[in-house]
Amino acid sequence: MNVLILGSGGREHAFAWKIAQSKKLKNLFIAPGNAGTAAVGTNVNVGLNDFESIKKFVLESNVNMVVVGPEDPLVNGIHDYFLADEQLKNIPVIGPKKDGAELEGSKEFSKKFMQKHGVPTARYQSFTKTNLEEGYAFLETLSPPYVLKADGLAAGKGVLILNDLQEAKVELKNMVAEAKFGAASTTVVIEEFLKGIELSVFVLTDGNSYKILPSAKDYKRIGEGDTGLNTGGMGAISPVPFATPDFLAKVEEQVVKPTIAGLKADGIDYKGFIFIGLMNDNGNPSVVEYNVRMGDPETEVVIPRIKSDLLDLFIGVSNQTLHEKTFEVDERTATTVMLVSGGYPEDYEKGKVMTGFDCIENSIAFHAGTKQDGKHIVTSGGRVLALTSFGTDIKDALSKSFANAKKIDFDKKYYRTDIGFDLV
Ligand code: AMP
Repeated sequence: MNVLILGSGGREHAFAWKIAQSKKLKNLFIAPGNAGTAAVGTNVNVGLNDFESIKKFVLESNVNMVVVGPEDPLVNGIHDYFLADEQLKNIPVIGPKKDGAELEGSKEFSKKFMQKHGVPTARYQSFTKTNLEEGYAFLETLSPPYVLKADGLAAGKGVLILNDLQEAKVELKNMVAEAKFGAASTTVVIEEFLKGIELSVFVLTDGNSYKILPSAKDYKRIGEGDTGLNTGGMGAISPVPFATPDFLAKVEEQVVKPTIAGLKADGIDYKGFIFIGLMNDNGNPSVVEYNVRMGDPETEVVIPRIKSDLLDLFIGVSNQTLHEKTFEVDERTATTVMLVSGGYPEDYEKGKVMTGFDCIENSIAFHAGTKQDGKHIVTSGGRVLALTSFGTDIKDALSKSFANAKKIDFDKKYYRTDIGFDLV
């Protein structure tokens, strides 16, 4: 098969690395890709949301399957675009259509969905500028901290967690009446604060059956000890020690099954990944959010732990034979540590020459923000490189990721030295 992966991060390099190992693969293309994906496939200079150029490339290169990495093209309807086109309609797209992508594209939609299908989640109400006063009144019924979420996609920044009631009221007004997050915050979901420890569970579904992929925990904050600004993710661990078999059985019964059944009942034909952000409160799961694609950097620990042929699983997704596919997981622990550009997640410089790739031992280097510049690999983003390692336990795996984090060098390199600190 000829496969096209859309995206350019560590997640897409991990997909590419894994799919490149499939016996069913002929040619692998990544659009736009990075310096890492270029080593396992062919990078294609096409924009993620430029559907016409994607169509042209798919037809010219006889692409037989499109795997979508990030949420944007899904929310913008790339799957629907393929289905509506005579020449593309039989080429499977791994990722939901617009209706399913609403699980991530609209917080209000996802909360309504969970409520309707009995999926445990925080109590909520949603507000616009027309019922702002009711929003203030709802805030008064809650105890701090107050959780305010922009309904639409806001580049991962649309959630505010505030301790002060007055501040929460001001921010609610800023969001709905002053477009704090642009059109994304025309509607705001206010919900109860959930206590507990967070983790992510990933599901691959063909709309009927599903496979539950390894769980993972990511580290979002820039600073040691989970302090400072939020980032795309500074590292991840899989499996999650507190995701016990008992807890995961509850997740399957209370969350995964009603989600898959709910999608079907609502007439949403969903083919792709569902990333379930969960709170574990004393052994009970509650859903914080759904995403309609894999997480980054969680993919860099989850995908290497899947022993089965990922392309074959995707074929199962596309022709609804996923239930027939075997699914094996590596029992070892995987960790990843993300190297980032100094200054990230605020301003940072690009184009720094990277060295040390030849010295990497016992880790896989998944490229995120890198590109080839002549004979050099240079940085081209905030998150630059994810170093994934296997070990007998978290400490063992991390020692390899950290050893290699020291060997890769570029000006103003930064990484957290305490990934997994709360688990060991
Ligand atoms: P979301 O975009 O919905 O995942 O929210 C971003 C982050 O805010 C989550 O990963 C949680 O850490 C936190 N968060 C969101 N909703 C809640 C909640 N109801 N209770 C506690 N923390 C939350």
